Amino acid sequence: MRIFLTMSKRNPPPPVIDAARVISYAFVDDIPFLGASSPFAEEPSLDAVPRLAIAVGLSAHASPQIFHCDEEWISLGTSGADSVEEAKEDAERVYPGVSNRWIDTNVTVEEALAFYDSETAGLKCSFCGKRPFEVDGLIEGPQATICRSCVEEFYDDFQTDDGEIIGN
Ligand SMILES: [Zn+2]
Repeated sequence: MRIFLTMSKRNPPPPVIDAARVISYAFVDDIPFLGASSPFAEEPSLDAVPRLAIAVGLSAHASPQIFHCDEEWISLGTSGADSVEEAKEDAERVYPGVSNRWIDTNVTVEEALAFYDSETAGLKCSFCGKRPFEVDGLIEGPQATICRSCVEEFYDDFQTDDGEIIGN
């Protein structure tokens, strides 16, 4: 008798997951999950997943994170690490054998930003040029887009030293 396992198609991840550049990824759908001894145990959302990606946020000074993903590389939760090596060690404790499976993407920051821009239709603050992941909210108008820090800066510019609003 032959048994066929039906596994969903193993597509590689996009270059960017949730504004983070994918460094390495692994398929873990056939590795028994050792959730009980998990360093992620305090994160109840991080149950067994079929895909793992190690990715670094596109903003400056971001440290690597493990993205625990579904089969379509949608992130179901993340866990932090100080380095890619540490992230791989953490993953090995929960998905034994994954160490031999990591596939490096070699995605450059430029490639990641280009992909991000294509996904966000090139959305940027019209005043400071920052992208959505770099700001704490953007407001889109018909002709321009502005970020929170620009709004606050310009608001301050409209005030005198006494705190009065210019024009009142
Ligand atoms: Zn701005």
